[in-house]
Amino acid sequence: MERKAMEIFENHESQVRSYSRSFPTVFEKAKGYKMWDTTGKEYIDFFAGAGALNYGHNNEKVKKKIIEYIQEDGIAHSLDMGTVVRAKFLERFTEVILQPRNLNYKVMFPGPTGTNTVESALKIARKVTGRQTIISFTNAFHGMTLGSLSITGNSTVRQGAGVPLTNTVAMPYDTFMQDHHSIEYLERFLEDAGSGVDLPAAIILETVQGEGGINAASFEWLQAIEKLCHRYDMLLIIDDVQAGCGRTGTFFSFEPAGITPDIVCLSKSISGYGLPLAITLIKPEYDIWAPGEHNGTFRGNNMAILAATEVLSYWETDVFAKSVQEKSKMIKARMEKIVENYPELQATTRGRGFMQGIACGKGKETYGSEICAKAFEKGLIIETSGPDSEVVKFLGSLTIDEAGLDKGFDILEEAIQEVLN
Ligand code: PMP
Repeated sequence: MERKAMEIFENHESQVRSYSRSFPTVFEKAKGYKMWDTTGKEYIDFFAGAGALNYGHNNEKVKKKIIEYIQEDGIAHSLDMGTVVRAKFLERFTEVILQPRNLNYKVMFPGPTGTNTVESALKIARKVTGRQTIISFTNAFHGMTLGSLSITGNSTVRQGAGVPLTNTVAMPYDTFMQDHHSIEYLERFLEDAGSGVDLPAAIILETVQGEGGINAASFEWLQAIEKLCHRYDMLLIIDDVQAGCGRTGTFFSFEPAGITPDIVCLSKSISGYGLPLAITLIKPEYDIWAPGEHNGTFRGNNMAILAATEVLSYWETDVFAKSVQEKSKMIKARMEKIVENYPELQATTRGRGFMQGIACGKGKETYGSEICAKAFEKGLIIETSGPDSEVVKFLGSLTIDEAGLDKGFDILEEAIQEVLN
């Protein structure tokens, strides 16, 4: 079996279009923070489905619910029809997530993926404001469809569109996120007809850039961006696809900044079981679409919504969030130790919560990809991030225990030692 599965993947010409070069094996099973391949080799997972598995692989609570639901002939697929599962999710999401945070949003099911929620946000912002341009930031990642790709600041993935993408302006995130003069600059840019930019419909950003290098915006900068949006009647869209659902230590990544975005994009871990689901949260006054103006077959899959309802129990009290915040300190400490122990890496740490990284050098001098490849050989699944793959990025599941964190970081250190030797 192992041989056959490997052959299917390795035989690029005849069977598969692409094969994971970062993780060159065939996986068979997964539980919690561990995965096993077809040879029985065990891996610690510091990747968690690119942030789609915040509650671990095959979370027991969710698995049980799904099995029961299937056995009772629960509805798997029903487009946007009203179902009991959907009603319960809406009720629980309001009760557990929105009301305690004094947030008043309508919940929309835009389609199954992160790209879908971003795309819906862009459409709403344009329709509400009657404006076209969207301001996004360098190194941003928002998705692969034409709209979401046009605001993604990664030249390699943009080339997939074949032609230049328009109606967007990218502002440098790295420089601006900590710098207050940047707001003045943005303001002047918006005021100045000579800049060639009509007033934008929206500003979209990730509070911590996931794919772009774990760049974390300061809370003050986020507050200033919110004010700017109000001043120019632009909508503030927070893409919380990766940084949301507890990843940074609070359910929404923007909570500690005290801002209230006009639109919030959630996907990845919203279903909590790796099932495809996205929701877009919109301020009620922006619910202006007529029926049929945004639809799609796989909007709001009931199985995914059932899973999403189940994992809301993690947020009923602050116990889970506190445990995430505590473990985040341990992650930071392990990363800082690595930076201290290996000055040759010329590394720094960055990020928040369970979204932290070790930035190792720049450009050709970076060791990021080599370290992750070596770690994989040794049984740790971890990816790089950033324009030069310079950031070794921790994205483990929030349910991982301290032993799992320790073991993973021990492997990472061994891999670093070997790469540097
Ligand atoms: N926004 C952000 C911040 C993301 O990290 C991603 C995926 N990495 C997306 C949007 C797109 O999500 P998806 O791949 O599910 O379409």
